Amino acid sequence: MYDDIPYVALPSGKEVPALGLGTWNMGETRSSAEQEVESIRRAIDLGMTLIDTAEMYADGRSEEIVGRAIVNHREDVFLGSKVYPWNASATGTVDACERSLARLGTDHIDLYLLHWRGEHPLEETVAAFERLKRDGKIGDWGVSNFDTDDMEELFAVPDGRNCAVNQVLYNLSRRGPEFSLLPWCQQHGVPLMAYSPIEQGRILKNRELIRIAKAYQATPAQLALAFLLEREGVIAIPKSSNPARVEENRGATDLDITEEDWAALDAVFPPPTRKTALEML
Ligand code: NDP
Repeated sequence: MYDDIPYVALPSGKEVPALGLGTWNMGETRSSAEQEVESIRRAIDLGMTLIDTAEMYADGRSEEIVGRAIVNHREDVFLGSKVYPWNASATGTVDACERSLARLGTDHIDLYLLHWRGEHPLEETVAAFERLKRDGKIGDWGVSNFDTDDMEELFAVPDGRNCAVNQVLYNLSRRGPEFSLLPWCQQHGVPLMAYSPIEQGRILKNRELIRIAKAYQATPAQLALAFLLEREGVIAIPKSSNPARVEENRGATDLDITEEDWAALDAVFPPPTRKTALEML
C-alpha cells in the first residue's frame, strides 16, 4: 500500500493528482505497444490517473496507445493532450482537437494545452480553447513552455486568466522556474506541471541523490519525484513504459525527507539565484 497521492486544485476547482504519467516516446514501435498499454493501466490502478500525451508524440500514435489503455477506464482518468503551435489558429485548434479525440477514442479531453508558443496570436488560440470548452470537447485548457513574461501576456488577453496549468521543464537539475515562474504561478493559482521530472533518467546516477535515497530505502527516481511533490501547486508526470518502474515512481509519495537532507540536495542541485530563461526539451 502507498500513501495517498496529494491533489492539486485547478483554477476551475477541479482536483487532479499531483503525480501522473507522461507518454512521450510511447507508440514509437509496434512491439512495445502492449507493455505501454499495461504501464498506463498500472498507473491508473495506482491512482496516477492524470495521463499526459500530445498530437506530436509518435505522430499521434501515443494518443492511440492512451486511447487503448483507457477503454473502460475513461471516467477514472484525467486526460491531457496538446496542440502543435502551428495548428493553434482559431479553426486549426478545433480541427487538431477533433483529430486527437478520434485517436484517443473519447468525446472529451480534460486538459488541452498549447504545446509551446508559435506564430498564432494568443487571443486566437484562447478563443478556440474557450469554444472547445463551450462545446464540451475539452474540460480545461492550459499552456506549456511559457515563461513568466509569456504568462503575463497570456493573462492580458480576453479569457487568458482561465489558463488551468503551465507545463514546463522542471526537476532537480533544472530549478530555474523556482526563481520567478513558480512563485508567479503559485500567486495566480495556476498549477505548474513539471515535465521530464527525472530529467529523462539522466539525474539518477547522481551520487548524492543515490546516497540520500538509500538512507530512506528509496530509489533516486522516487527522491527526485518527492522533491517536486513537496512543492505547492506542482504536478509531476514521469513517463515510464515499464509497469515495474511505474510502481516504483508511485512510491515517491511515501518519502518523508528531513530538512537536513533537502539542504544536502540543495548543495548538489542549487536553487537559482537569478532569473534565467526557461529551458525546454
Ligand atoms: P522523464 O523525466 O519522465 O523520464 C522518462 C525516462 O526515464 C524514460 O526513458 C523512462 O524509461 C525512464 N524512467 C522512468 N522511470 C524510471 C525509473 N524509476 N528508473 C529509471 N528510469 C526511469 O522524461 P520525459 O521527457 O518523458 O517527461 C515526462 C513527460 O512529460 C513526457 O513523457 C511528456 O508526457 C511530458 N513532456 C512534455 C514536454 C513539453 O514540451 N510539454 C516536453 C517533454 C516531456 P522507461 O519508459 O523505459 O521506464
